[in-house]
Amino acid sequence: MECTDLYINGRWVPGAGGARFDVINPADERVLASVASAEIADADAALDAAEAAMKDWAARTPRDRSEVLRKAWELMTARQEAFARLITRENGKARADAMGEAGYAAEFFRWFAEEAVRADGLITRAPASGARIVVQHKPVGLAVLVTPWNYPAAMGTRKIAPALAAGCGVIIKPASETPLTMLALMPLLEEAGVPPGLVNVLPTTGSGALVDHMLHDPRVRVISFTGSTGVGRKLLKSAADQVLKPAMELGGNAPLIVFEDADMETAVAGAMLAKMRNLGEACTAANRIYVHAEVAEAFTAQLTERMAALKVGNGLEADIDVGPLVNAATRDKVAAFVEDAMARGAELRLGGKVPEGPGFFYPPTVLTNVAPDADCVHDEIFGPVAAIQTFTDQDEVIARANDTEYGLVAYVFTEDFRRGMQVCERLDYGMVGLNRGLVSDPAAPFGGVKQSGLGREGGHEGMLEFMETQYISASW
Ligand code: NAD
Repeated sequence: MECTDLYINGRWVPGAGGARFDVINPADERVLASVASAEIADADAALDAAEAAMKDWAARTPRDRSEVLRKAWELMTARQEAFARLITRENGKARADAMGEAGYAAEFFRWFAEEAVRADGLITRAPASGARIVVQHKPVGLAVLVTPWNYPAAMGTRKIAPALAAGCGVIIKPASETPLTMLALMPLLEEAGVPPGLVNVLPTTGSGALVDHMLHDPRVRVISFTGSTGVGRKLLKSAADQVLKPAMELGGNAPLIVFEDADMETAVAGAMLAKMRNLGEACTAANRIYVHAEVAEAFTAQLTERMAALKVGNGLEADIDVGPLVNAATRDKVAAFVEDAMARGAELRLGGKVPEGPGFFYPPTVLTNVAPDADCVHDEIFGPVAAIQTFTDQDEVIARANDTEYGLVAYVFTEDFRRGMQVCERLDYGMVGLNRGLVSDPAAPFGGVKQSGLGREGGHEGMLEFMETQYISASW
């Protein structure tokens, strides 16, 4: 069944206003589906349904909730291939990236099935009065989840799984470029035993008004957002009116530092992962590559060779490594970053030319000698462009790496472990990859500092975003 309507209270509905919008396949620019666009009345219906469903769900035992999540993991893992195809069709990413995402997305259900039964608390005695201090966690209330287009499955499950584990009901607003994957997940959740109304999906072209309306409904207690820092700021302002609990996974500007004592093979493999996973459309993508001058040429030559070997094309085809970018605006922004860097003196070692024909393709591109004031050094490139600069001094490169409003993830390559740990600790980032180009893991707390966000997803922390701490002072 193709799921293209709104999903409210366990039913497919066309939406109060009957409006629809097109989802485009970025590989051929053809219309893939026409999807219902939610309006305010639909949001109210979804909130009513979530409130009613949450009463029973929150009262169930943790084991009961855990079993449902575990089943969701099993079903999604069994259907990884089908989800990967759908992700590729609406987002464009190549098959290997889409399979990786579908597997990663499913893992959040398994991880939070395990976490659901470990919601710990504390009983102790107050030192002076001797009263009992009882600390426990309770589900916080309804959560509004807003997700981006770059990981249509995983950015949703990374929020849904901990919310359900904690006992909350949710309304998801997926990105309008890629709503199909989240909609397709709903029959699977039904089959896993998620009760009607607990999870609702509202694609829309009117995100601003719809989300703002929900954030002012007194039943909503959490806004969990993944997307750009600009939209995150707006949502934080809106959330202030009802003092909502915010979880914000925002933009990044990841530095990747290669020291002169790095193992070159490890550094190049790490840079390939950090730069080219998801064709650079990732908040974790290496945005600024700093290489020690002594090894810069060796690193650049090897990276360029590996980037040149990647095959660009329709992500559904088996031997394709790099699919199209999600839309024309993203492709044009990437092209503009490259032109700006070259105008400021960067040397083009590979790619850099928008190909003819349909589809929002941009080739793997390598730039060296990128000026520190180039636009791509300050903003997220969000595309397959490796922008390389050199350095000679450790303190200098740490200062340059920290010189940004963002603080999501950084990468460090060195064979000197002590030096590596010292550098990691001096980097103002929520996450650091040490000799690794991939940090994302459902078992680890994902999140940024500074203007990259608030809160953590995954790990033990992920579930706490959907829980309140209650303290009872008792005598017995
Ligand atoms: P975006 O901020 O434009 O959109 C994200 C979501 O917010 C979409 O669903 C969009 O429809 C919705 N939205 C847009 N305007 C809104 C408004 N005024 N009110 C409510 N909702 C609104 O981001 P994007 O272009 O979809 O995604 C790319 C960005 O996401 C990048 O900056 C990237 O770094 C970031 N991102 C961060 C993480 C992370 O975990 N930190 C992960 C993936 C992507």
